[in-house]
Amino acid sequence: MGLEQIFDMDYVGARDTDTHRVCGSCGELKPVEAFYKDGKYSNGKTRYRRDCRECYKRQRILEAKMKEKRDERIKPMPKMQVATGKARGSSRGKW
Ligand SMILES: [Zn+2]
Repeated sequence: MGLEQIFDMDYVGARDTDTHRVCGSCGELKPVEAFYKDGKYSNGKTRYRRDCRECYKRQRILEAKMKEKRDERIKPMPKMQVATGKARGSSRGKW
């Protein structure tokens, strides 16, 4: 028992209640309805994801964007025509 208490001090779920839980991503205390269900505990209690729906969605969008970028890199880039004289002049002015 004592060990569990020590664990709980650092554990992000220490403030969890039956109706509310702390999101592991944004750290906000939110009602369990704001979390996706993640199966059940052996004692029959419903498990919820550690990150709230908002963070989960944001993460999914982020992953989709990252995947898009990866796919872009795989595609052959169209060759850029560099006007050497002009580029040299303008870059010197910019920097
Ligand atoms: Zn969150």
